[in-house]
Amino acid sequence: MTPSLLILCSPSGAGKTTLARRLVTSRTDVGFSVSATTRPPRENERPGVDYYFYTWEEFCRRRDAGEFLEWAEYSGHLYGTLNAEVERELGRGRHVLLDIEIQGAWQVRASRRDAVAIFVLPPSAEVLIARLRGRGSESPEEVQRRLARADEELQAAPNFDHVVVNERLDRALEEIAEIIDGGGVRAQRLPDVEARVRTLRRDLARYRQENTNSGTRQV
Ligand code: ADP
Ligand code: 5GP
Repeated sequence: MTPSLLILCSPSGAGKTTLARRLVTSRTDVGFSVSATTRPPRENERPGVDYYFYTWEEFCRRRDAGEFLEWAEYSGHLYGTLNAEVERELGRGRHVLLDIEIQGAWQVRASRRDAVAIFVLPPSAEVLIARLRGRGSESPEEVQRRLARADEELQAAPNFDHVVVNERLDRALEEIAEIIDGGGVRAQRLPDVEARVRTLRRDLARYRQENTNSGTRQV
């Protein structure tokens, strides 16, 4: 097996971190690239395991020193993939999973043409909102910002090598495993990606509009 870079992207709340964590614990041939961020840790997050938590200054110093394979700003914070993380996992002969947003995904694809890009779609807008809110880690305003960003991200889905719907976790994990085991190739592509994306965007726009109109009501 040739170890490769596996990029997982999705709108916030679709479940890519859950999928990445499950893949890493269930497979010895897959490692995780722990990203750096300037965002404050959530209650359950551990430094060096979930993220390297840097100050803005430290992040910029490391960025200027060329330590990042890619980096991007997302919802007011900086996020980046450290070269050292990727090289460590590849050096161990393992595929390496990058849980990153789309600007970062394009940067990785520009420098590592062999990277396999997987977009994770939620089964519906309702489920996405329920998961994002149910996680309980973001304020209602931050949930709104992330849903606005989701609209942009969803438009990128058809450009990815693979699209997986995370409805049942086990099924989504099987599909990603199939992609990994196929060396980045998958026998069957998800049909109607464009139509799914259109429906998700329409429903998300409706929720966001209702929320704006009602003023106090959350999405
Ligand atoms: P992301 O990393 O894409 O922002 P998370 O992995 O944090 O999303 O998942 C958001 C929430 O949805 C979490 O509370 C997670 O436990 C839950 N979740 C993820 N996948 C599923 C699934 N297939 N079924 C039900 N809940 C899920
Ligand atoms: P969260 O704050 O929910 O952990 O992550 C917010 C967004 O940043 C998610 O889309 C996540 O995939 C993305 N992200 C996490 N790490 C990185 C990274 O190293 N680079 C980039 N570009 N995005 C990242």
